[in-house]
Amino acid sequence: MIFRQRPENKVLILLRLLNCRMVFSESQALTFFTIEKGYEGELISDAWLKGLTDEWLILNDLLFDYHGSRFQIDTLLIAYEKIYLLDIKYWEGDHTIKEDKWFTPTGKPEKNPFHQLERCETLFQRMLHDLGFHYTIESYLIFNNPEFHLYTTSINPIIIFPTQLNRFLKKLNTKPVKLKKSYHELAQRLVDLTIEESPYKRIFPYTYEQQTKGVTCPDCNTFFTDEFICKNCGYIDEGEAAILRSVKEFILLFPGRKVTTNEIYEWCGGIRSKKVIRRVLAKNYKLVGHSLNSHFVPRN
Ligand SMILES: [Zn+2]
Repeated sequence: MIFRQRPENKVLILLRLLNCRMVFSESQALTFFTIEKGYEGELISDAWLKGLTDEWLILNDLLFDYHGSRFQIDTLLIAYEKIYLLDIKYWEGDHTIKEDKWFTPTGKPEKNPFHQLERCETLFQRMLHDLGFHYTIESYLIFNNPEFHLYTTSINPIIIFPTQLNRFLKKLNTKPVKLKKSYHELAQRLVDLTIEESPYKRIFPYTYEQQTKGVTCPDCNTFFTDEFICKNCGYIDEGEAAILRSVKEFILLFPGRKVTTNEIYEWCGGIRSKKVIRRVLAKNYKLVGHSLNSHFVPRN
């Protein structure tokens, strides 16, 4: 059973919004692509693990701080006196290992995923001991993109290739999993220990001025012109919903800026009058402060 669902990827949400409104540099575009791909791979992995029997405890996306060292685990599987630590790699193309060094399909050196996994396992093992659990940890690098290939002369049992995914799952399903209360307690303690990192700290800096102003189509991200009918895909939006969606985007992208009629009017690219914007804001948000300082905040 899934004990901890994979939370939505806030960095990716921000990047998707920014991608509609600004031109990314090459390195920003690469960051976006990498995060988008990684998330796709995690979702594919989540769907794959639905093939596990119900007795397993599955914990997704855990970020820990162990005495100042941060480490992130894509997926943990808790079994009987054993914990499986899975690092999901949705890599594509022909990668190579030469003398312990990894290379991308274009021949550029890349981070050795073993080192990352080892660090993760070591820190997690220590943390587990501190919590009073002395289970064995088995770590795996899961490559789940069918377009992935690795040229290597050595066979490493901790790597699971796309063609081995089904067998790996079958093997797991033959293992005894009799989980007592203490296993659920461990799972809960781990969830309680997870930390959340601000997505704004994990993303490149961006400014309000860089963003194209306007309201976008929720289906294809094209900017609406004068009406809330998409010229690209034909989607017909309801005016208030479209403005509210833009307000949410504004708050998400610029949590430090105050929501005022003028700000939202500008953010929406003047698609509707200030009077309309004010009415929509007043209906859905709470007005706080006085005269020049007044602004809208979400209603609770
Ligand atoms: Zn559209």
